[in-house]
Amino acid sequence: MAHPEDPTSKRAPEAILLGSGTSNGVPMLGAEYPPGYLANPKNHRNRACLMLLGPSGNVLVDCPPEMRLMVTAQGIVDIEAVIITHTHADHVMGMDDLRSICMKTRSPMPVYTLPRYQEDIRRIYAYAFQEFPPGIAIPRFDLRDMPAEMSAGGLEIASFIVAHGPTPVIGLRVGGLAYITDVSEIPAEAAPLLRNLDVLILDAVRYKPHPNHFHFERAIEVAREIGARQTYFTHLSSDYDHDETNASLPEGLELGYDGLRIPL
Ligand SMILES: [Zn+2]
Repeated sequence: MAHPEDPTSKRAPEAILLGSGTSNGVPMLGAEYPPGYLANPKNHRNRACLMLLGPSGNVLVDCPPEMRLMVTAQGIVDIEAVIITHTHADHVMGMDDLRSICMKTRSPMPVYTLPRYQEDIRRIYAYAFQEFPPGIAIPRFDLRDMPAEMSAGGLEIASFIVAHGPTPVIGLRVGGLAYITDVSEIPAEAAPLLRNLDVLILDAVRYKPHPNHFHFERAIEVAREIGARQTYFTHLSSDYDHDETNASLPEGLELGYDGLRIPL
């Protein structure tokens, strides 16, 4: 059966915002929505996930429960490495599905994250670190400390740490793109990596202030301070109607949406 062409064969480096939704996703289980809201596909938001398509491979940033569906829908069949920004459920609960990539490559999946999150992954996916009889497919993770700078997929990826309430979260800079999901404060040490950005992807969880996230007004302030040529907001709740919100935002600030492609 013909498979959609793997974007790795085209190889103009780009990022795909696979999931632009908050931890509940949108639509959220148990919620009702006004007629018309769900008619716009851009109001359907999977949990936070980014794919970096490099010249020689693909790097997955976070692994929400819908990861398999989002990646296969894009026709992407290879993942060279995974970066986990932090281990809240919406960022790690799709990791079991990486087993089929491990079966294909016959090697553990390199997973880059902070040491404390490596402990979480060992606890959540204890079976992935246990002995199994041959023939039983389980995911295998090669847990690695997230370095300040790394190469994967032919991309140079720099990292920094932001605060998400009490939780440290890995932010990324790749070429002219910075990606900051889940953030309530950006420390001064990150500033050098946020200069001269073409594109910033930034948390703007909802309208009301939130202790662990930038809300809409704060995200706009921070986006203006950072001054990327284009900012896309992400980790978005049901508060936002995509088209209405974008119509209200000034030039250079927009809501992200699932499937948004950004050249690197
Ligand atoms: Zn989180």
